[in-house]
Amino acid sequence: MGDEDMKIYNTLSKQVEEFIPWNSKEVKMYTCGPTVYSYAHIGNLRTYIMEDILEKTLRFLGYNVKRVMNITDVGHLSSDADTGEDKMVKSAKEAHKSVLDIAKFYTEAFFRDTKKLNIKRPDVVSPATDNIEEYIKIISKLLDTGYAYQANGNIYFDTSKLKDYYKLTNMKAEDLISGVRDTVEEDVNKRNKTDFVLWFTKSKFDNQDLKWDSPFGVGYPGWHIECSGISLKYLGEYLDIHCGGVDNIFPHHTNEIAQSEAYIGHDWCKYWVHGEHLNSADGKMSKSKGHTLTISTLEEKNIDPLAYRFMVLQSHYRSQLTFSFEALELASNTYKKLRKKVSSLREDEEINNSLKEEYIAKFKEIIGDDLNTANALTLVYDVLKLDVNETTQKEIIREFDKVLSLDLTKKIIEKDVDEEYIKEMIAKRNEAKLNKDYGLADKIRDELLAKGIKLNDTRDGTTYEVL
Ligand SMILES: [Zn+2]
Repeated sequence: MGDEDMKIYNTLSKQVEEFIPWNSKEVKMYTCGPTVYSYAHIGNLRTYIMEDILEKTLRFLGYNVKRVMNITDVGHLSSDADTGEDKMVKSAKEAHKSVLDIAKFYTEAFFRDTKKLNIKRPDVVSPATDNIEEYIKIISKLLDTGYAYQANGNIYFDTSKLKDYYKLTNMKAEDLISGVRDTVEEDVNKRNKTDFVLWFTKSKFDNQDLKWDSPFGVGYPGWHIECSGISLKYLGEYLDIHCGGVDNIFPHHTNEIAQSEAYIGHDWCKYWVHGEHLNSADGKMSKSKGHTLTISTLEEKNIDPLAYRFMVLQSHYRSQLTFSFEALELASNTYKKLRKKVSSLREDEEINNSLKEEYIAKFKEIIGDDLNTANALTLVYDVLKLDVNETTQKEIIREFDKVLSLDLTKKIIEKDVDEEYIKEMIAKRNEAKLNKDYGLADKIRDELLAKGIKLNDTRDGTTYEVL
């Protein structure tokens, strides 16, 4: 049970609500994972940063959390509609590799990127292709209970069978339908325009590599069913939080609710939490517009991925954020200064524990208020202005950083200090010692120390550690 209050904006109710989980012992959290047919762009990663902050905030407030994430390695078509060519298949064809090779490659790339952003890996990560039996079980029941129908080989969900198909979205039915891209051909087999495919056996694209046997014929699952299936399998019928980007609200999350609640026969998820877009100056940063800003792009420009995390945390997750390299550069400089200041604070003084507790309580109140990361960062600066010793300041900020995860107390290693450079300096120092130039030897040692590298002279030679 969390010992502090938590408030979060719920897309279902369109308001900030007090967070009360179904079961007080463990928060069940599901977050939509990446479609692994290319690198994640930094706009996608903004959503994963928000989800990481949410998970860590819950844990910081005293909740136990079980978080599950899927990896979409089958069934995600070239648009959010149910027609078109599968993105995975398209990517595999372009690279002349198998679909699963492509998926493995980009799954690993995704976790490398998220690690650089200090995003914790979810407790359970499950590829869509590992859970085919689960989807078959759900689809079979939906057919039995009349929520699904077969038409021209495919199984569709009948959205007209629900009282409130649109409960997650503000928009009216007509708005949503007109939002479907013009380039996508309407599927004539559907009974209603919003019906969606649960299982494909027929697609106008016959080159789908991955197919499975099922009671409905050899085929493959639609995209939406995988998240319902994986969530129900690992987190049960009562889900507390489901997250994703705002572009997932319709149709993906709307369809997840439809099929999950039709299947289990009662309300499913209490809180739907969505992160806003990252925009470029000329509009939404989406892959279809050819923008592919990735973590590698930032690193090529010598920008620490954590500076991007810092920039993201400077604004609220429900506000759109406009990306520019000028803005990132500015955030990067601010971040570097802050980290340099915090990491160099002394660690050998007596900690003022009552002040520490007071500021942890303040932090919990701020971050627990719909994840106000911008104010949480302001609180870091407030701590640095406190009339208290450096060690206390550092210890308070170390606590905040359990949620912010900006490595604030960790020493910065200058870009030019790589392993080769350190070895070169050690060799120079050894030479100085041989020449009995102890002044130079000490100077080299101190220079490295200032850069966060501590030398240790041992019987077997000089070793170093990164502070
Ligand atoms: Zn999903």
